[in-house]
Amino acid sequence: MSTFSLDPGPDQLAVRDWLHGFAADVMRPAAAEWDEREETPWPVIQEAAKLGIYSLDFYAQQYFDPSGVGIPIAMEELFWGDAGIGLSIVGTTLAAVAVLANGTDEQIGTWAPQMFGTPEDVKVAAFCSSEPDAGSDVSALRTRAVHDEATGEWVLNGTKTWATNGGIAAVHVVVATVDPALGARGQASFVVPPGTPGLSQGQKFKKHGIRASHTAEVVLDGVRVPGHCLLGGKEKLDERLARAREGVRRSGRNAAMATFEASRPAVGAQAIGIARAAYEVALDYAGTRVQFGRPIIDNQGVAFQLADMKTRIDAARLLVWRASWMAATQQPFTSAEGSMSKLYAGETAKWVTAQAMQILGGNGFTREYPVERMHRDSAIYSIFEGTSEIQRLVIARAISGVPIR
Ligand SMILES: Cc1cc2nc3c(=O)[nH]c(=O)nc-3n(C[C@H](O)[C@H](O)[C@H](O)COP(=O)(O)OP(=O)(O)OC[C@H]3O[C@@H](n4cnc5c(N)ncnc54)[C@H](O)[C@@H]3O)c2cc1C
Repeated sequence: MSTFSLDPGPDQLAVRDWLHGFAADVMRPAAAEWDEREETPWPVIQEAAKLGIYSLDFYAQQYFDPSGVGIPIAMEELFWGDAGIGLSIVGTTLAAVAVLANGTDEQIGTWAPQMFGTPEDVKVAAFCSSEPDAGSDVSALRTRAVHDEATGEWVLNGTKTWATNGGIAAVHVVVATVDPALGARGQASFVVPPGTPGLSQGQKFKKHGIRASHTAEVVLDGVRVPGHCLLGGKEKLDERLARAREGVRRSGRNAAMATFEASRPAVGAQAIGIARAAYEVALDYAGTRVQFGRPIIDNQGVAFQLADMKTRIDAARLLVWRASWMAATQQPFTSAEGSMSKLYAGETAKWVTAQAMQILGGNGFTREYPVERMHRDSAIYSIFEGTSEIQRLVIARAISGVPIR
């Protein structure tokens, strides 16, 4: 019996085809409009919710798919449809994964459903980690969480930035420092329930790409949350802080790092969706655009570009699927394979979309054709969820064992 296969099973293929239909019929036709409006495409999210594409159940099913490729396949199809709308649909999962990774079963059961709302009353969620002075350097977070012994509540103060769905979310998950002296090891994550006083939206950013996705600052001014909003609970936090103060490191890899490594392939899969979309437009265009009396694809210079585009997209997908399969089968990322997949897929999306614009010539530079938007959208994939430089840093440290800076 063969133990190696790159064939997704019938369930994954059925999900792929279902999502492809939604991406082609609903997302694609709406993409240019929401990019121009620079607003959250609520009607599209509502449509996705009605069909079950925007729901906790759907993402949980893909997340726990034993082959590991459920999430990458879903991400690739949705982002093939459109990246800005795609991020509006899946942005909530960032916050959901934070609760899943750090919360108790009770917390997951309470908060995850509220993040999505219902098809009749759709909600989104936000994950707020980055701050103006703490981007790549997460250990520099200044947002403070102080325990009020009298009430058992936590009081949060600080300013978060770049939060996808920040301020428009029902549920916000906020990473804050409980003991600044301990750096990243002194941090904890908190759920801020819907309507909590003191949380407000700051500046909403006008962006280069993924413009249908809302990105904003989140201001926390004396935000009080009940004790049960500390993800994982106080006992676990106190134990963790005590260990950190004694300078004891757990054997094996840091849990937060392992979570990041596992979520990075999903982000890589989004980038692949954009790259594949731009490649398909370019392939089609090259076959029909006639110059010098023949289709431009008849020129080796153009055909070889397309050959390289397709090769890099497939290579990126293989890296993403490998990392996803490793995560699902709980194999350690000894060479930071999650980071590798995100790095390569992100850079591939930027490169492929730029080549696609070139193949479309003047048309590629206009908003009459979608590759210009896809190129703008792709640019975020070397920035968020760890920049390309940070991915290289993680890989370099993993393969060398040297604390490279
Ligand atoms: C559209 C968008 C959506 C986002 N969504 C979210 C979200 O939902 N939640 C959230 O918490 N954050 C979010 N982010 C934040 C994102 O994760 C950060 O922008 C990213 O981590 C980089 O941080 P920074 O922007 O502060 O850049 P910096 O960390 O200031 O980096 C600037 C440059 O320096 C380089 N650099 C920094 N340190 C090193 C080093 N040690 N070695 C080599 N090079 C280095 C970086 O690679 C980069 O090129 C989002 C950002 C954007 C733009």
